[in-house]
Amino acid sequence: MSPTSRRVLVVEDEPTINQAVTDRLVAEGYDVIRAWDGPEAVERFTDGSPDLVLLDVMLPGFDGHEVCRRIQAVRPVPVLMLTARDAEADVLVGLGVGADDYLTKPFRMRELVARVAALLRRVERAAELATQPVTELGDLRIDPGSRRVLVAEEGVHLTPTEFDLLLCLAASPGVVLTREHLYAEVWGWSGASGTRTVDSHVKALRAKIGTARVRTVHGVGYALETGGTR
Ligand code: CA
Repeated sequence: MSPTSRRVLVVEDEPTINQAVTDRLVAEGYDVIRAWDGPEAVERFTDGSPDLVLLDVMLPGFDGHEVCRRIQAVRPVPVLMLTARDAEADVLVGLGVGADDYLTKPFRMRELVARVAALLRRVERAAELATQPVTELGDLRIDPGSRRVLVAEEGVHLTPTEFDLLLCLAASPGVVLTREHLYAEVWGWSGASGTRTVDSHVKALRAKIGTARVRTVHGVGYALETGGTR
């Protein structure tokens, strides 16, 4: 799909960064809408219906984490957080409130563009995944068509990223998949941020489907247990 049909909401209070990111995305063919503080970001999201949100953490009004919470409650949307270097707490909180990935400042424009494209591709790929058959592992049932997950016949609400991660693990039950593999498969991008992003999403997934279902192989990666229970 051509990026010209894609709309990105850029939320950044620093004028030079907001302008530079906007200029670059427009040059790449994206339709860009902008906000400079927390409340404005939620407003633009609601009336502008963006396909993806680029979200700075430190913002006037309320911060990017609160923005993420509020917009994800309205409609699931891919969110790429912009964080300060070494602000690990920010990264973990951001991923915990529904951000899909993060980019550390200062970043190169080329990387930003690649990450935006990768996240949007993933959303498009979700449509292809929908044709896969239902997977059942013990009392875990994954239906790619409706994107629904049942644990012991009870519906579990997963974010789009958590769902795609589970689907990727479920494609090879019992097999240990490396963080790098999972990051490349689910996020469509390979980079240094992958480890923390994958770990954080596995943690969230475990909290929802049962800790014992996803086995950690330290220093290697994760495997979905074939007959696990919550
Ligand atoms: Ca800021």
